Amino acid sequence: MTTGIHHWINGAEQAGTSGSTGPVFNPATGEQTGAVDLADAREVDAAVQSAKEAATTWSRSSLSQRAGILFAFRHLVHEHADELAAILTAEHGKVLADARGEIARGLENVEFATAIPQLLKGDYSSQVSTGVDVYSIRQPLGVVAGITPFNFPGMVPLWMCVNAIACGNTFVLKPSEKDPSASLLLARLWKEAGLPDGVFNVVHGDKTAVDALLDHPDVAAISFVGSTPIARYIYERGTQAGKRVQALGGAKNHMVVLPDADLDLAADAAVSAAYGAAGERCMAISVCVTVGDVADDLVPAIAKRLPSLRIGNGAEAGVEMGPLITAEHRDKVAGYIAAGEEAGATVVADGRAADVPGDGFFLGTTLLDNVTPQMSVYTDEIFGPVLSVVRCETFEEALELINANEFANGTAIFTRDGGAAREFQNDVEVGMIGINVPIPVPVAYYSFGGWKASLFGDTHMYGPEGINFYTRGKVVTSRWPDPATSQVDLGFPTTR
Ligand code: NAD
Repeated sequence: MTTGIHHWINGAEQAGTSGSTGPVFNPATGEQTGAVDLADAREVDAAVQSAKEAATTWSRSSLSQRAGILFAFRHLVHEHADELAAILTAEHGKVLADARGEIARGLENVEFATAIPQLLKGDYSSQVSTGVDVYSIRQPLGVVAGITPFNFPGMVPLWMCVNAIACGNTFVLKPSEKDPSASLLLARLWKEAGLPDGVFNVVHGDKTAVDALLDHPDVAAISFVGSTPIARYIYERGTQAGKRVQALGGAKNHMVVLPDADLDLAADAAVSAAYGAAGERCMAISVCVTVGDVADDLVPAIAKRLPSLRIGNGAEAGVEMGPLITAEHRDKVAGYIAAGEEAGATVVADGRAADVPGDGFFLGTTLLDNVTPQMSVYTDEIFGPVLSVVRCETFEEALELINANEFANGTAIFTRDGGAAREFQNDVEVGMIGINVPIPVPVAYYSFGGWKASLFGDTHMYGPEGINFYTRGKVVTSRWPDPATSQVDLGFPTTR
């Protein structure tokens, strides 16, 4: 039995009309559980028109009305967290505890946006010249769209839509077609919270739907999160069409371990950050860069922790790591392990040997030592439970390695040396840094984003930069008529 997964347009579910659907699986069982409608350009246009119509009144809604709806939405998401987590686990495969964590981090963004009356305050300068005042205001863009990846089907849409809507925009979400159902529960909760119809819409789809959004003249801005080749494409095509675009791409996150680091802390962190969510996190650690001879102790310490990790269906209590998203992706990751072995990496733990009963898309944990920067396991984003160890002689060598990498999303250093940590923080060319913190995802009142091939555009996502992205600034220079002082003056206006 497969469930039909439909669009959400103008405050109601709408069955697709394109005649095209995509399969949705439960990755832990390998069964197809859903068929998601894939929109054509006409259906995308219907969603955009609904958002455009709603924007005429929503953009003028009072800040207190918006804050009230955001508070109600926050309450509802919190109340439905278990239901949402179950959907995430059933379609993505991540374990329930991880799914709840994803929702908690998404909720932080809703909480941030409840302060929208404060966040949209402008500046005011009185008497810049005699009788003249200057002030700034920020206004919404209109219809904005979000295109999101499979690995955070709850949190990443919340990174985008809450701030966009709080700023007075209307929103069209194109979620990943691999795990699309969470977006529909969010849509229902928005409606229940009192959001007017048309302000939040969901169109499911693939490249056809994405291209229709990129080319649509009524879409003012695009927020994208996904892999680097698609992020680059979205940025180029979207900006060519005159849109504001922020496009976050892939990652290869390095964790540097200096010889003075606490070994147990570093080993625990490496295991948690490399294998959590089966490595399908854009902030996962995929490379451990050891300095000096710390690898001689660290590699066995990591390896020792692996056999006890429970791999299985994430819906079952006590399971720590679930499957990969599809059978094809599992096979691709296994192919990288084979390529690493062939290229001379030492296979300390081999995930291909894991035996999980059933037809789920499982792969065990892999630890590769003596990886070199030339190997494909190092150069490519694998996005699976594979940790590569690159051994360096010095701190400088480790830093150079990271700075030479095309990706620059997150990185971390493990040390007790404050001076080294400070030097690392200042000299590493990466957007998000952890000091003895392996997954440094910024809290919602900072902004999230990498550098180089991990982000196209100049605005990071959510937090203060999110508010800037979803608004346009105006500066008003104002003088109220005072007939007593009025005169003709053809000189250029100065403030003195
Ligand atoms: P993806 O790039 O395959 O897909 C992302 C979105 O783009 C989906 O909605 C998909 O439907 C759409 N898409 C796919 N191919 C397209 C095409 N040819 N043309 C137009 N649209 C297309 O990414 P994914 O596999 O869903 O997610 C995993 C990737 O996302 C990883 O690379 C991961 O690092 C990255 N990611 C990055 C961040 C970040 O913050 N930088 C966060 C999460 C995930």
